[in-house]
Amino acid sequence: MGCERESAAHKWASYTRPSGLLIFSVELLALAEALRDDVIVHELLHERAPNHGKLWKSLMHAYLGDYGVPEACLRAIVSRA
Ligand SMILES: [Zn+2]
Repeated sequence: MGCERESAAHKWASYTRPSGLLIFSVELLALAEALRDDVIVHELLHERAPNHGKLWKSLMHAYLGDYGVPEACLRAIVSRA
């Protein structure tokens, strides 16, 4: 599930260390607000947590609460593309 989430989120955005460069796809604008938030927070948290370990998951939960629904939506959108 983590790999699917990674590929789903990174279809619309990426974060590059150590430069801190954040790149967002213009296609992100077509997503629902909750989905955009999920992708943006996902990438911003990579500044603090480079992988999707416990720290990253805790921060995602702290900022977005139950982010499982947007994750499922992201996977569905990617699978339709
Ligand atoms: Zn990621």
